[in-house]
Amino acid sequence: MENLVNGTRVFAVDVAQPEVAPLAEAAATIRSGGLVAFPTETVYGLGADAANAAAVERIFVAKGRPSDNPLIVHVSDRGMLSDVVREIPPKADRLAERFWPGPLTLVLPKRPTVPDSVTGGLDTVGVRMPHHPVALALIRAAGVPIAAPSANRSGRPSPTAADHVVEDLAGRIDIILDGGETGVGVESTVLDLTVDPPVLLRPGGVTLEQLTKEIGEVVVDRTVHGAEAGESPRSPGMKYKHYAPQAQVILVDGPVLDMQSKIKDLAYEYEEEGQKVGIMCSAESRGVYQAPVVLEYGSRDDLSGMASDLFSTLRAFDRHGVSVVLVEGVPATGMGLAIMNRLRRAAAGRVVQV
Ligand code: AMP
Ligand code: MG
Repeated sequence: MENLVNGTRVFAVDVAQPEVAPLAEAAATIRSGGLVAFPTETVYGLGADAANAAAVERIFVAKGRPSDNPLIVHVSDRGMLSDVVREIPPKADRLAERFWPGPLTLVLPKRPTVPDSVTGGLDTVGVRMPHHPVALALIRAAGVPIAAPSANRSGRPSPTAADHVVEDLAGRIDIILDGGETGVGVESTVLDLTVDPPVLLRPGGVTLEQLTKEIGEVVVDRTVHGAEAGESPRSPGMKYKHYAPQAQVILVDGPVLDMQSKIKDLAYEYEEEGQKVGIMCSAESRGVYQAPVVLEYGSRDDLSGMASDLFSTLRAFDRHGVSVVLVEGVPATGMGLAIMNRLRRAAAGRVVQV
């Protein structure tokens, strides 16, 4: 089934049979330098042929993305990995063995064939093998590694459904493959393996605990907990504002009861100022608040479930036209580390510790 939105072709894909049409067409579009948005297990990606510098440029234009923010290269097998990177240290090999296909991006020394536009001028490249039948089938059919950042306008919450991609990018890209909702809901974990011990640059679908269990010590980059990235960051993407709905986001963090009473106080204050307040909270806190818009995104006992609904909930506040969103924090362990990282950045530093 095909739908045309502002010139962008949107195809429904049968996830159980990704090889049939429209995949061949999407692969041909990639090969001829076009842009295709596709589902992965983390979020939707916006793909282009990673070896085609002009095609890669188009990604930056479509997203409005700063050119020094590198893209992740997606591969469908280990052979493609060797085409992209110069060397694979033993720890990288081990992690790929354990977590690929899956939500883990390995930063490794790049081959000269990878254009500078892909890596934002760095001599390293982030690579991963996605765990999604449509993503893998597309890479295989295209026969080339696919460079793909998240398929959102720069600064917006990452897309976890094809509708989010349509919202942000219809009219700016060639094809959107609609494979339904993504599962993990936050982006891949990014790990720098060009240094030892390896450095966690971005928490994501594979947890820090899982990584250390596999390879021992992992250093957590200070930007993960919200530090400023500074002038020459290892992970340039971390310096940009991200994940934000139109409203101002304020993150409140601390023990549950203290968070709840702080959020109630703040909601009252903002309403007095004439603002329309939204609250984003756990299922357990849902009944505690009386703001005009209260959206819960899952139980605190299931951080993976919360990660899965995080971005769609942030986007939903736009439809309610709120001007301020007060968000409850979660414990920064397991998937909570990735959730808190995204919430901190959505709040762009507006964090109230109670
Ligand atoms: P996105 O796919 O939109 O989530 O963006 C990819 C992110 O991966 C970037 O913002 C960086 O944080 C990270 N990344 C990609 N390649 C590299 C690299 N070579 N070195 C460090 N970080 C990278
Ligand atoms: Mg992104």
